[in-house]
Amino acid sequence: MIETSDFNIDESAGRIVSPEYLSDDNDNEVSLRPKSLDEYIGQEKAKDNLSIYIKAALQRKETLDHVLLYGPPGLGKTTLSGIIAKEMGVNLRVTSGPAIEKQGDLVALLTNLNEGDVLFIDEIHRLSRNVEEILYPAMEDFSVDIIIGKGPSARSIRLDVPHFTLVGATTRSGQLTAPLRDRFGVLLRLELYTPEELAKIVTRSASILNIPIDYEGALEIASRSRGTPRIANRLLRRVRDIAQIEFGGEITEQVAMAALSRFEIDELGLDEFDRKMLSTIIYNYSGGPVGLDTLAAAVGEESITIEDVYEPYLMQIGFLTRTTRGRCVTKLAYDHLNIPFPNCNCTDSSQQTINLN
Ligand code: ADP
Repeated sequence: MIETSDFNIDESAGRIVSPEYLSDDNDNEVSLRPKSLDEYIGQEKAKDNLSIYIKAALQRKETLDHVLLYGPPGLGKTTLSGIIAKEMGVNLRVTSGPAIEKQGDLVALLTNLNEGDVLFIDEIHRLSRNVEEILYPAMEDFSVDIIIGKGPSARSIRLDVPHFTLVGATTRSGQLTAPLRDRFGVLLRLELYTPEELAKIVTRSASILNIPIDYEGALEIASRSRGTPRIANRLLRRVRDIAQIEFGGEITEQVAMAALSRFEIDELGLDEFDRKMLSTIIYNYSGGPVGLDTLAAAVGEESITIEDVYEPYLMQIGFLTRTTRGRCVTKLAYDHLNIPFPNCNCTDSSQQTINLN
């Protein structure tokens, strides 16, 4: 029999319900990626639009218009870029905003593409301004301007680059500069998944990884995965270990519940950090409103991480609202945390807040 402590969360590997990529996702992430639009579960609106644009471009024998995918991490942006390349029958080149340091890096990438290729730039909002300037003529006219030489003898020459499709991914579309955003013909917003969609993803992943699971077991994992496939797949792998060692292998609802409560992930997918953040707003700031930076300092996390990683799900389940004056906790969250809800609360941002303490 394995002791409970053997399954404690490995802090160095990161938060188990983080939607961001963790080192131990490496093992399966590639094999679990759907390869076609039919295999890609959920995101029906984005998929329908994309499928029409792809068919139309193929019919006209043209490259697909540049695509901007935006939404929280772990929802399938990288996966979708691979599918776009596959469906268009071209190669995929993958890079990211912070990885392209100099203009020359991007010029080298662009000039090495083949006709029609898909260039995927993750975290495109993090491209530096001078690198971004190379992208403008490349996206519009499929050419780049480079400067040769230095001083008075320097001259600018224009190089043609192959026709390509840029797929940009970002968690923060608001941070994209207007000239860059305007050059994308297709803008697709990815939404958090429903538990039922995630249950399908868990069932699919379990069958690829040969993990025995029933529908209720898959739904239990899905319900605690914060609307995010990356988290669902990670929880599936963690629950598998416990199911295998302690419960004879198959993941049922009971097994999933036992395993996930051991990781201190509650029935809505909230972990210790979420609970800490919500109760900090409740106890220290009377339920809010509290400014993002103040909250970040109080819970010891970066503002950007709170905004991109924690908040989208808490807002989706109606536990947190953003008002012009800051973040507020709703009655639903008080109820979930078993904290009495005061009569006057900031959910109406015009009201004065009261002090609970
Ligand atoms: P992002 O680029 O948005 O951070 P990824 O494309 O890397 O997210 O997706 C993370 C993981 O989630 C992938 O390994 C993939 O297996 C899974 N995944 C994402 N979207 C779907 C989907 N619609 N259907 C099935 N699996 C998905």
